[in-house]
Amino acid sequence: MVVITQADFPGWPGDADVAVALTFDVDGEAPWLGEGPEYSRRLTVLSQGRFGPERGLSRVLDLLAMHQITGTFYVPGHTADHHPEAITAIAAGGHELGHHGYLHLGSEGLDADGQRAELERGLAALERHGLRPIGYRSPGWELMPETLGMLPEFGFSYDSSLMADDRPYWEVSGSAPLLELPGHWSLCDWPYFGFTPYHGGLLADPAAVERIWIEEFESARAEHRLVTYTMHPEAIGRGYLIRMLDRVITEMVERGRPWFATHAQIAALARKPSPAAATPRPAG
Ligand SMILES: [Zn+2]
Repeated sequence: MVVITQADFPGWPGDADVAVALTFDVDGEAPWLGEGPEYSRRLTVLSQGRFGPERGLSRVLDLLAMHQITGTFYVPGHTADHHPEAITAIAAGGHELGHHGYLHLGSEGLDADGQRAELERGLAALERHGLRPIGYRSPGWELMPETLGMLPEFGFSYDSSLMADDRPYWEVSGSAPLLELPGHWSLCDWPYFGFTPYHGGLLADPAAVERIWIEEFESARAEHRLVTYTMHPEAIGRGYLIRMLDRVITEMVERGRPWFATHAQIAALARKPSPAAATPRPAG
């Protein structure tokens, strides 16, 4: 049995009893264009993606500013190229920007060269904004060994794509340990609120999701661990869902002493393990 090497932290800053990372994937039109050229003429579904950077994002940024919270925004290079004002607004709010592919291509459909190109194109797009990300989240949470192995080479300090633990842990990536800041589908808005005519969706009751997210917050608080929530401006940026997120944040502050932090801030606190201590993945 492979034993996971948990990351060791000196404790959260101040008097915090839990670390909370609010993270947002600003996918825009990229996932549809990456799915196939036939989507380039499907204006309704493209416009649904465009709602994220064009409308939902400003609601997210306003809410975070109101609560004085900084978050982490994972951005495909295509979004950076086609919605530059979104990148400017995120950076102006003091938030972290992370890598989320270029055309949001699932790495499971790419060979090693294709995966490298997606990483390089995404980096180049962010560099045009003067940004060099240290965090990576794979598009669609589908991460192949080739991409994982390339991350240290491109200067990444952490990944947020894998789910072997609900505490931060060390993964083997290439020859170096790489910090994993895990998320989970249950703590992501998309399975509850994402809907397209091509993939369907639940369009769940926000009150039910609010309860799930607060219960997970209480679990994280009891264990003094990090909890990462993953959202998409295209979904969470709808009016009724921003109201839900507002209630969730307010309730967290009322119940506990959360440290709302970016993934980069959390990664900076992790004590480095010995290279041999990282968690080897099972072969295959
Ligand atoms: Zn995405």
